[in-house]
Amino acid sequence: MDGQMNRRGFLGSSAALAATALGFDLRPAAAMVRELKISRTTQTQSVCPYCAVGCSVVIHTLGDKAHNVKPAIVHIEGDPASPINRGTLCPKGASLKEFVLSDRRLTRPLHRAPGSSQWTPIEWDDALTRMARLIKDSRDRGFVAADSQGRTVNSLATVGMIGGCTDTNEVNYLLGKLRFGLGIVPYENQARL
Ligand code: SF4
Repeated sequence: MDGQMNRRGFLGSSAALAATALGFDLRPAAAMVRELKISRTTQTQSVCPYCAVGCSVVIHTLGDKAHNVKPAIVHIEGDPASPINRGTLCPKGASLKEFVLSDRRLTRPLHRAPGSSQWTPIEWDDALTRMARLIKDSRDRGFVAADSQGRTVNSLATVGMIGGCTDTNEVNYLLGKLRFGLGIVPYENQARL
């Protein structure tokens, strides 16, 4: 964009001009604040979970190397090394820290018993065992090996699968194996992979 000024550049230049006009240059101070904010953090690369663009993010965590200190996420930003977003994030991605730290975020499986209006926390092992049991039972009931003309279809149309936009290639590969192994026909994915 040689010779052109985008919105971010314009705002940055305007702020710098205003500060200079007042006799201050705030840029070193702003850089120092950012440096202090992420100094001593551990950086973990991840992917924004919101949409199929799949922007890469860097999660800055403080305290996970010290004893008796609970790790805390202090900052999440776009990954400048990513060829997808090159360090940028849209407003949804820029609010990721609030999403991760929200006290309303589900962190364990919940079960609602038939007829109940209450969700009850259950252990992961119990949830996975129950899911496996229900999938097996549903497949046994709905699997069709051949159509009305005797042609092999190995089809299961009574169970559906939904994929997420930030599932990795490896996860989608395994989901595909599981899906085709079970014979599942209904399939949807936000990313349409
Ligand atoms: S930062 Fe925005 S555009 Fe990028 S994956 Fe997240 S929601 Fe999508």
